[in-house]
Amino acid sequence: MTHDANCIFCKIIAGQIPSRKAYEDEELLAFHDINPWAPVHVLIIPKAHVATLSDTGPEHAAMLGRMLALAPRLMAELGVTNGYRTVINTGPDGGQEVYHLHMHVMGGPRPWLKG
Ligand code: AMP
Ligand code: ZN
Repeated sequence: MTHDANCIFCKIIAGQIPSRKAYEDEELLAFHDINPWAPVHVLIIPKAHVATLSDTGPEHAAMLGRMLALAPRLMAELGVTNGYRTVINTGPDGGQEVYHLHMHVMGGPRPWLKG
C-alpha cells in the first residue's frame, strides 16, 4: 500500500501518532479531528496515501464511494441524528492543510465553532 513517511495521516495509520479512532477496516480509517469545529468531527481517510482528490482517477472510484458510504453509518453510530456536513478540501485554494486525502464529517447540535 502506498505510504508517505513524511505524511502525518500515514503516521496515524501506522500508529506512530496517536488518534481517537472511530472506525477502521482494511481500506479506510476514521478518527476524531484534533481541532473539532462541531460536537462530532471525524475525518475519513483511505489507508493508501493519496495526496488530494485531484490525484484520484477511475481506479479510486470504489474507495471514494466507500468513504462517502461510511459517513451516514458513522454518524448514526456516533449519535448524530439531526444531519451533518461532509467536506473535502482540495489544494491551496480549497484550503487543504494536510496532503493526505480526507473527508471531514461534522455533526451534532449547533452552534458550531466554525462551518
Ligand atoms: P484540511 O484543512 O482539510 O487539510 O484539514 C486537516 C484537518 O486535520 C484539520 O481539521 C486538523 O484539525 C486535522 N488534523 C491535523 N492533525 C491531526 C491529528 N494529528 N489528529 C487529528 N486531526 C488532525
Ligand atoms: Zn499519507
